[in-house]
Amino acid sequence: LDVRDEFTHRTLATDVMRPRRNDPPLAVLTQDSTTVEDAEALIKDTDYSGFPVVVSRESERLIGFVQRRDLTLAIKTARQKQDGVVSSSMVYFTEDAQQLPASDPQPLKLRRILNLSPFTVTDHTPMETVVDIFRKLGLRQCLVTRSGRLLGIITKKDVLRHMAQMMNQDPESIMFN
Ligand code: ADP
Repeated sequence: LDVRDEFTHRTLATDVMRPRRNDPPLAVLTQDSTTVEDAEALIKDTDYSGFPVVVSRESERLIGFVQRRDLTLAIKTARQKQDGVVSSSMVYFTEDAQQLPASDPQPLKLRRILNLSPFTVTDHTPMETVVDIFRKLGLRQCLVTRSGRLLGIITKKDVLRHMAQMMNQDPESIMFN
C-alpha cells in the first residue's frame, strides 16, 4: 500500500455512525419542547442506551446527552412524588424554565441528569482516531457533528463491530497502524 492508497482506504466517523442512509432518524430529545408523554413514548418505542438533547429539531444544535436509565428513573420518580407532573407536563433541560401560563401543568426539570459535555467528533474524523479516543477515555458513546449540527452517534459496540470488520478485510492495517 502506498500512502495515497492507505488514505483512500481510511474509514471516517461518518461511515460508522448511526443512523445509516435508510435508517430512521436519530432518536433525540429537545431542550424545551418535549412533554413527559413524548419522553415516555421515546423510552417505550426504542431501546437505545441514551438520547442526545438538541436545541430544536430544526437547529439540531447539540446541548447534551441523557442516559436512558436516568431519564426513565427521573420520570418515574416525578410521576410518583411530584404532584402536578402529568403526561402533558413539559420536560426542560434548560437552566431556567420559561414562564408558563398559570394554567399549564407543572413542568419537569431534568437538567441535573443531562451530561453537558458529551464527547463529540466531526464526521471527517478518521476511525483510527475515534478508536483511540474510545480506548483512552473508556467511552460508551460518542456523538458526531458537522459545523455544530448533530449528525449521528457511535457506540462502543459500533466501534468493536467496525474493528472486527477491519480485521477480516485487512488484518495488517490494524496491527501495524
Ligand atoms: P449498543 O451499541 O451498545 O447496543 P445502543 O443500544 O445505545 O448501544 O445502540 C444500538 C445501536 O443504535 C447502535 O448502532 C447505535 O449507534 C444506535 N443508537 C444509539 N443511540 C441512538 C439514538 N438515540 N438514536 C438512533 N440510533 C442510536
